[in-house]
Amino acid sequence: MSNIVAIVGRPNVGKSTLYNRLTETRKAIVDDFSGVTRDRHYGVSEWTDHKFTVIDTGGYVANSEDVFEAAIREQVIIAIEEASVILFMVDVTTGITDLDDEIATLLRRSQKPVFVVVNKLDNNSQLADSTEFYSLGLGEIYTISSMTGSGTGELLDEVVKHFEDVELEENARPKYAIIGRPNVGKSSIINSLIGEERNIVTPIAGTTRDSIHIHFNKYGHDFMLIDTAGLRKKTKVKENIEFYSVMRTIKALEEADVVIIMIDAVEGFEAQDMNIFHLAEKNKKGIVIVVNKWDLIEKNNKTVKVFEETIREKTAPFTDVPIVFTSVTEKQRVLKVIETANQVYYNRARKVPTSKLNDVMLPIIEKYPPPSIKGKYVKIKYATQIAGTSPMFAFFCNLPQYVKEPYYRFIENQLRENFEFSGAPIQVWFRQK
Ligand code: GDP
Ligand code: GDP
Repeated sequence: MSNIVAIVGRPNVGKSTLYNRLTETRKAIVDDFSGVTRDRHYGVSEWTDHKFTVIDTGGYVANSEDVFEAAIREQVIIAIEEASVILFMVDVTTGITDLDDEIATLLRRSQKPVFVVVNKLDNNSQLADSTEFYSLGLGEIYTISSMTGSGTGELLDEVVKHFEDVELEENARPKYAIIGRPNVGKSSIINSLIGEERNIVTPIAGTTRDSIHIHFNKYGHDFMLIDTAGLRKKTKVKENIEFYSVMRTIKALEEADVVIIMIDAVEGFEAQDMNIFHLAEKNKKGIVIVVNKWDLIEKNNKTVKVFEETIREKTAPFTDVPIVFTSVTEKQRVLKVIETANQVYYNRARKVPTSKLNDVMLPIIEKYPPPSIKGKYVKIKYATQIAGTSPMFAFFCNLPQYVKEPYYRFIENQLRENFEFSGAPIQVWFRQK
């Protein structure tokens, strides 16, 4: 399943204002505990139980006059290929410009759902002006004010109708995506896994000509690898290389059950890797970290530990993630990567029976209850795992509002200590009973 909403349009129409509005709450949470760079232009949004990734294309355009029109045109083409829904934003205060017309021409040829979003309708007196945008030839128009948020609900109600349904998990093959910065060794590991036995591997063309799903039935495992490696040199405009690779990365990530984040041991775990990590975590994907080119590191008996600690400091509080140290060129632990991904796949799908969950957790809770607040005591009566694609637990109690963040962490850590959830994001809720 992959639901990517791309906001396209010329500069200054209000794309990033809308992007911020759609992603703001979650962004605040992430920035809070990780200190990741703020200049990310993609994030997770939610509307009426639909989760989707929003990408603000404008963030990737360089600010030089002679490139930007070409860059924008190319971004629209990439968005048409890669996104599930396109929001074409225009500005009611300026009316239709030449660049708007050009973009509309590209979009009219696309098969993807396109929404004409007329922005900056801060008051109804501008409503008459907005009818001009019907002449773009893209059907219905949606009038909004990104600044105040008016009209965005009506827009999203329509947008979510175009999302793919969650596919049935039963009998589905595990899907693993190998994601990482250029040159970390993604193609090398895939080639190494493919090896000589090409007939075992069936490359299945995905929704676009170069989205490759490789089916492996080998090493005792039956799984799909989503290949993001071959995605350089697809853009003509230099500024769009990052945009394109972000788009492909998000798509691979959304389709995957387990995200294998590959880094170069020499370069370390950087801001970009952290962004991927948090996106995977927010999407409730399984995660494995692979530190490749381990052969290039001079080692003593502490090196592994130091590496692990450095990475865990950056991914905190989600530190229960397996880290595999590989050298693809020396054929070290390549299979371990697949075995670990497979283990994480099962951890993420793990269902703890209610009786077992309560047998384990209630005595712990009795011994370490939530601290009382203003003389009020929280009594937790029982817990149950909620059905879903990733582990979710509800704890029923009298006063859920008095349970604070540190206790959520405590419960999550206890679940991790007592059951095997390594690599799988866990959600914990306290509910009224
Ligand atoms: P982008 O270049 O398309 O990402 O546009 P921005 O989001 O940076 O917005 C460009 C300018 O338009 C900024 O000064 C915004 O404050 C302003 N703007 C964005 N949305 C609205 C809106 O709904 N109403 C008004 N009046 N101004 C807006
Ligand atoms: P990608 O861009 O992530 O697909 O990276 P590639 O697989 O193309 O690898 C980039 C370069 O790193 C190539 O020259 C590989 O031979 C080299 N490389 C890959 N894995 C290793 C490794 O484990 N050790 C060393 N020393 N080099 C590696």
